[in-house]
Amino acid sequence: MTTVGILGGGQLARMLALSGAPLGLRFLVMDNVADACAGQFAPMVVGDYRDEAALAEFASRVDVATFDFENVPAESAQWLAERVPVFPNPRALATAQDRLAEKTLFRELGIPVPPFAAVETREELAAALAAIGAPCILKTRRLGYDGKGQFRIRTPADADAAWEALGAQAATVGLILEGFVAFERELSVVAARGRDGEFRPWPLTENWHVDGVLSVSLAPARADAALVERAYAHARRLAEALDYVGVFALELFCRDGELLANELAPRVHNSGHWTIEGSETSQFQNHLRAVLGLPLGDTRMLGRACMLNWIGAMPDAAPVLAEPGGHWHDYGKPPRAGRKVGHATLRADSAGALAAALERVGRALGREAQVAPAVSRLRE
Ligand code: ATP
Ligand code: MG
Ligand code: MG
Repeated sequence: MTTVGILGGGQLARMLALSGAPLGLRFLVMDNVADACAGQFAPMVVGDYRDEAALAEFASRVDVATFDFENVPAESAQWLAERVPVFPNPRALATAQDRLAEKTLFRELGIPVPPFAAVETREELAAALAAIGAPCILKTRRLGYDGKGQFRIRTPADADAAWEALGAQAATVGLILEGFVAFERELSVVAARGRDGEFRPWPLTENWHVDGVLSVSLAPARADAALVERAYAHARRLAEALDYVGVFALELFCRDGELLANELAPRVHNSGHWTIEGSETSQFQNHLRAVLGLPLGDTRMLGRACMLNWIGAMPDAAPVLAEPGGHWHDYGKPPRAGRKVGHATLRADSAGALAAALERVGRALGREAQVAPAVSRLRE
């Protein structure tokens, strides 16, 4: 019996555990809070990721370890990797958890990125702003997620407010200034890479964010074959450079047919949740297969799929469940403003049928605005 250890016990760990059950796997989750939602399906070690005793207990009970959370301290991941196999490797994790290291690597690999500069002081912010120009975004280098730790600078006059908001973090997690990309669309490549180097991307996904948080994902994204190949090539080059094993997502901005890389998520990703019902093999299943050195499953789509995120509180399930291609995921988390508490996936064989299903669900739940961009894309 193989036990997979997962650092981080949120909904990603929960969906990994659910997906691994048919493979006969056992799971052990480590999280710093006792009520982490993956704990409803897997035993847990509760402890700080920097606590050596807790990490040692975790290491002694697992055969292989992975992450549901990229902000596990890189030193903890390294400590663990000296005791059990850890995938993805700690270097890949460390690169992805620092926006400066990540963007520097993208650029080295020839993957286009928005202009960026490291910022350590108020003077460096002024210099970076002069070089990059407004609009731009000041972000923390580390520990940001769901758009947290970001300040949008619309005109140079916003620089003081940006420094007021984030300057104190320059010395702890570091800051980076990035040019604002007036993108037409946001896309992501979710892909799996096996221990043997096999690379399998899912169809390209289009994503819509609200206030920096993912709201809707639609697959396949409407894109010509050349754009898809370019996106896959970027993802593959990155995975090979990092000797990455497991599933990851590369977030991309699309502007005038050009792809600019935003960030690398070194784990299964919210924009890949549709793969549970919309693909022959889900991202969760393929992540486990990759980590265990098993053959990867086919990543082809079954029709078209659209995922709707539920933020803050769960809506009524009935309108989604009433759809022939409707699937419901409740993460079992207490409601809280801004928190991802669940999602729904709608699947259909044609763009027209998927648009109609989205409209019915949007109307029934009073979420017309949430589904509207995906409906219009499907009707283009
Ligand atoms: P995630 O939850 O995806 O990890 P995050 O906190 O790491 O989010 P980003 O992905 O950097 O944050 O930004 C969140 C969203 O904010 C992006 O998906 C995009 O919509 C917008 N955004 C971020 N950076 C830029 C940029 N340079 N130009 C335009 N929009 C941006
Ligand atoms: Mg991120
Ligand atoms: Mg992001």
